[in-house]
Amino acid sequence: MNSGVGLQRFFHRDETLSRSIRNIHDVCELLEIPQEQAETLIDPQDMHIYRLHPNIGGTPVAVWGCTAFHNRARGTYKGGIRISDDVSVGETMELARLMTLKTALTELELGGAKTGIQFDMREAYAIFGKTGYDPRFEASVKRAIMREYAHHYRGMLERKRYVPAPDMGTGPSEMAVIYDETKSPASVTGKPEGVPGWLPGRAEATGYGVFYVVRKCAEKRGQKLEGLRISIQGFGNVGSHATLFLKEAGAIIVAIADKDGALVDENGIDVVALSQYVKKNGSVKGFDAPAASMEEFFSVKTNYFIPAAINDSLTEDVAKMLDTECVVEGANFPTTCKGMDILTSRGIEVIPDIIANSGGVIASCEEYTHPTSTRKLTKEQVFATIEKSLGRNLDIAWAEAEKRGITLDLACTLVAIQRVYLTMRNHGWC
Ligand code: NAD
Repeated sequence: MNSGVGLQRFFHRDETLSRSIRNIHDVCELLEIPQEQAETLIDPQDMHIYRLHPNIGGTPVAVWGCTAFHNRARGTYKGGIRISDDVSVGETMELARLMTLKTALTELELGGAKTGIQFDMREAYAIFGKTGYDPRFEASVKRAIMREYAHHYRGMLERKRYVPAPDMGTGPSEMAVIYDETKSPASVTGKPEGVPGWLPGRAEATGYGVFYVVRKCAEKRGQKLEGLRISIQGFGNVGSHATLFLKEAGAIIVAIADKDGALVDENGIDVVALSQYVKKNGSVKGFDAPAASMEEFFSVKTNYFIPAAINDSLTEDVAKMLDTECVVEGANFPTTCKGMDILTSRGIEVIPDIIANSGGVIASCEEYTHPTSTRKLTKEQVFATIEKSLGRNLDIAWAEAEKRGITLDLACTLVAIQRVYLTMRNHGWC
């Protein structure tokens, strides 16, 4: 079995000028950094492409993976592991670049990296004759892949040259596999409860950060969270936790979509029941709430729209359809360049990914820093750290945007690039 469609697609990505590349070029112009040095901020320092051979139920499988080591000027390479059928080298490079910007923007002593593993779970279901949603099957397949991955990178992981974490398609169980290979608590973050070095609140951290950003924006706009209308795309780790925190604070979740369908209910969706439903059934499809088309989902009138699923989902067409005041990017680069231009021209504020979904890496940094403490930090302490680091730097970026008359998206990149560039100069790299 060859799980993907091979190297050709693996190398491919449609959007040649990504948002982060466009932003870095614009920022270099604003900061008068020579364009040739912009390339050193854009390109990864190192790239690995490899083929893993996990054994799934006695069948050898060939799986392509790649890791982009974008920048280690400010600290060890840090970034999640994504398992998905449409992973590509270009996408992984973009995600690694965002990690460099994110860790710099939130003042963490870490660099940026990312792993993309191309695997089509639907094809695996077909090959192994599985029908319906089978979480145990999916978990065992992912464990087999992660065992091969951890073995492949053992030396680097043990030396903490690269410290991975969960991303789309992976979670705490997959991180436990890495710990089992290295036996080193600081070699991976996002570990499940009980595994040495695990951190209370890490699983909810990205969603908590997204919730906190909505709360902060609401405060700035003189809005109360109670009664705010929210729609969210994606109900996985980030989407489900963000929604649960928002619901608890009194917001009304009027629309939710995932890979299999969309729900719209003007009176609010019962997200606590939905969360239990998704654990059993794997998606929101079939839940007891009115089903909707994607057009209906995107057109619902809301105060905040939260893309928390895949990249490039907020296209030019979607940006025209959205009826909202503010977009909070829970996912990584959900908004395309053209989508961003439309939102800006329509006066819809965008809180970009590199700040909005940074709660996860802020918590990961705590987990990395306290790897063997038997007296755990509490969830409340972890959430307070997220609020402090995210809130302080969002304020800095807002002030920069106002001072220079630029978008918050560009201002966030500017603050991050100032910090990365300064450190690269201090190293004598440019
Ligand atoms: P996940 O795998 O837990 O969930 C992904 C969700 O997106 C699922 O609900 C899935 O059904 C939905 N989805 C997939 N394809 C879709 C499509 N075509 N249309 C609509 N929905 C679709 O992933 P996650 O960890 O929640 O990550 C979501 C996003 O957040 C990704 O962009 C990821 O890079 C980013 N992110 C995650 C973390 C983290 O800690 N997990 C941290 C920072 C950023």
